[in-house]
Amino acid sequence: MDPVQINERWCKGCGICVAFCPAHALKMEGDKSRPVPGACKVCGLCELYCPDLAITVDLGQKPAKIAKGA
Ligand code: SF4
Ligand code: SF4
Repeated sequence: MDPVQINERWCKGCGICVAFCPAHALKMEGDKSRPVPGACKVCGLCELYCPDLAITVDLGQKPAKIAKGA
């Protein structure tokens, strides 16, 4: 399971999490934020920034490996 879980009922589509994710691990699909599979570095920032408390990050999971040249 992806370390980032987004509650679609609570997400208002503001895009803040997409803008602030340092790993580009979130994207907008329509008016909802979605995780990019395998990209999350488990930093937890998106959970802190979401004004609608729609994101939960499982900090116990291992971060995705940083791609060469990224
Ligand atoms: S936990 Fe960090 S790396 Fe993962 S989606 Fe949120 S902001 Fe991006
Ligand atoms: S910050 Fe929260 S409300 Fe805004 S797009 Fe991301 S998950 Fe949705």
